Amino acid sequence: MELVEETPYRFRIEQHGAMRVPGVVFASRRLLPPKGDGALEQVVNVAALPGIVGASYAMPDMHWGYGFPIGGVAATDIRAGGVVSPGGVGFDISCGVRLLAAELDRSDFHRVAERIMDGLSRATPRGAGRGAVWELHREGLDRLLEEGCHYAVARGRGTPRDLERCEDGGAVADAEPGRVSARARDRGLGQVGSLGSGNHFLEVQAVAEIYDEGVAGAFGLRLDQLCVMIHCGSRGLGHQICTDHVRSMDESMADYGLTVPDRQLACTPVDSPAGRAYLGAMAAAANYARANRHVLGVAAGEVLRKATGCGLDLVYDISHNLAKIETHEVEGQRRTLCVHRKGATRALPPGHPELPPGLRAAGQPVLIPGSMGTASYVLTGVPTGDAFFSTCHGAGRTQSRHQAIRTTDPRRLRRDLEHDGIVVRGSSARGLAEEAPTAYKDVDAVVAVAEGAGLCRRIARLVPLGVVKG
Ligand code: 5GP
Ligand code: MN
Ligand code: MN
Repeated sequence: MELVEETPYRFRIEQHGAMRVPGVVFASRRLLPPKGDGALEQVVNVAALPGIVGASYAMPDMHWGYGFPIGGVAATDIRAGGVVSPGGVGFDISCGVRLLAAELDRSDFHRVAERIMDGLSRATPRGAGRGAVWELHREGLDRLLEEGCHYAVARGRGTPRDLERCEDGGAVADAEPGRVSARARDRGLGQVGSLGSGNHFLEVQAVAEIYDEGVAGAFGLRLDQLCVMIHCGSRGLGHQICTDHVRSMDESMADYGLTVPDRQLACTPVDSPAGRAYLGAMAAAANYARANRHVLGVAAGEVLRKATGCGLDLVYDISHNLAKIETHEVEGQRRTLCVHRKGATRALPPGHPELPPGLRAAGQPVLIPGSMGTASYVLTGVPTGDAFFSTCHGAGRTQSRHQAIRTTDPRRLRRDLEHDGIVVRGSSARGLAEEAPTAYKDVDAVVAVAEGAGLCRRIARLVPLGVVKG
């Protein structure tokens, strides 16, 4: 495979074989995935999707994933028979990040750190199974799937102001709860307000650096401020929906006369019964994921209020696993596209009509976690935005979970974190090792490439003070 270095931050894979468009990889030489990792081959495979336009994109945090690479972005033209592929969204539908900020400084945390971390640990159900902040009945689940965060607010959890600070106003349109299988509902019913496992977390952070005070102020952030970052998704419900639809599309693809280079890219036209069924169920799972983060955020705010007298205000909530119907200009024409972002974040520029009035001048807040031992970033969209206004979603793994376990001593890792003043709660030794900071790329380098490539702009750098691991 030939990789052409177009700029220090952008590589191109020339169109060859079954590719319908070129591949574009935003990376530096150092951040390119190693040979044999398979992620670049996945960029090539995605470029063969029916109806794909522009390019098959990969973000600087890219690594191997199911079908699509994590950090992959691909848009298909709906009117030209463009497809939707559940593998281009991923199993954790609408997994994402929520950032909240307190009217407190990091010094306020240190005085009550153990108490706050114990409280957050108790208030945050986690692990593979059940246990949730919000016990819902079946009718409630239906409304949640339809209305996302709006339903939570209607039930007294959180405030209307929160909705303004959520991507899509807290709920995506076109959710069809009727498309969600009984098995998916059963799995989701007892998990509303729960982290899940491993890579998901609730972290107390402090703002360590501000790069643009004006924009940071518009987001509600200032130097030394105490924040809480939450990363989780749609739990068993989203996972089941992905499983259901990958299976059925794998079976029905041939009926549409479609072939793809990898079975994990199973897809059908957006504008087909199978495509619409998936998108309706996916949107319901997206609403579930957003409400999940919302109620966890509300619970965290109550813990902080009890311990310090001060609650939490929402900075923003973003999704990094979703397919969205958007209009973009491609080759001089406005087209309706299905944009897949898998391990990729939207990054809308200042002035974009979808931004709420309070954020319109600043641009969309982009939330990029690093690891439990390193920094995380807040960025904003820029007018030069590329890849349909997308950017990276994290640091990205360099090691699989298996590799991380083999190369990490969990007791030493815990000691090192505590030595750095980071309070750790609620993870098995194994779980901690899987998520060792050394298993991830250097987030500072990833964010520098995203900025260098003109995808987004740094606003603030956050450092961890305490982490509740899923
Ligand atoms: P993913 O959605 O791909 O599972 O993870 C998103 C990103 O979260 C990862 O690429 C990684 O950079 C980041 N991350 C994973 N665990 C932690 C953690 O405990 N704390 C922080 N701040 N970031 C994490
Ligand atoms: Mn997830
Ligand atoms: Mn995620």
